[in-house]
Amino acid sequence: MQQKLQNSKFELIEMHPKNTQSVIVSVGMNCVVFDPWGHADDWIEKLDKRGLKLQAIYATHGHPDHIACAPKLAAHYGVPWFLHGGDFRLVGSGNGLLEYFNLPPINVNDIHPTLLKIKKTEILPNLLMDVIETPGHTPGGVAYNFPNEKLMIIGDTLFQDSIGRYDLPGGNEKMLMQSIKNLYNLNLSDDTEIVHGHGMATNIKYLKENNPYFHN
Ligand SMILES: [Zn+2]
Repeated sequence: MQQKLQNSKFELIEMHPKNTQSVIVSVGMNCVVFDPWGHADDWIEKLDKRGLKLQAIYATHGHPDHIACAPKLAAHYGVPWFLHGGDFRLVGSGNGLLEYFNLPPINVNDIHPTLLKIKKTEILPNLLMDVIETPGHTPGGVAYNFPNEKLMIIGDTLFQDSIGRYDLPGGNEKMLMQSIKNLYNLNLSDDTEIVHGHGMATNIKYLKENNPYFHN
C-alpha cells in the first residue's frame, strides 16, 4: 500500500487463490478496481467493509485471470467494466483456467464489457489516466498510465525480467515487441512504478537494468 498524491491511493491486492495482481485505486471513499481476480464475494466483503464505493472496473486484457470477477462485481454494484474492444471475443473463453483455481466460469450471459476508450480520462476526481494500447499478448491489451502519480498498470505485456506469452490465441510476437518499444519510448521517469499482471511491482529503472526486452 502506498500513498501517491495526497488524494489518491493505489493498493496492490493479491486475492486468494494467489495468482493475479489486482489494484484498488481510491480517492476518498470512491474507488475503481483493475484486473479483479479471485472470488467476487471476497471483493464485495473487502470493499463494503471499508465503505468504498466502486465506480468502475478496468481490465488490462481479456484473459480470464484478469477479468475473473469483473462481470459479477459490475452486476452487484451496477457499474461498467471496461475492456478494449479487441479482447471482447476472449470473454468467456479459457474458463479451464478458472476451473483449475476452483473459481466460477465466466459465461456469455454475464454482464458484457463496456468499450474502453483510448484517451486520457479523469477516472476519479483529479485522477487522470492514460490508456495506452499494447497489443501482442492479446489483441486488445492496454496499459493504464497515471502520469501525475508516476505509476503504470501494465498487465501481462511485460514482467519483471521477461515478457508475456504471445503463443496464446490472438497473441502476436511482432506486435508485442513493438508495444514494449512504444512503452519504452514513453520515456517515463526511472522512479515510475510498474505494476505487472503477475509478480512483484518494479519500476522503470529496474526494467531498464534487468529486463532484456525493455529497450528502444
Ligand atoms: Zn494474460
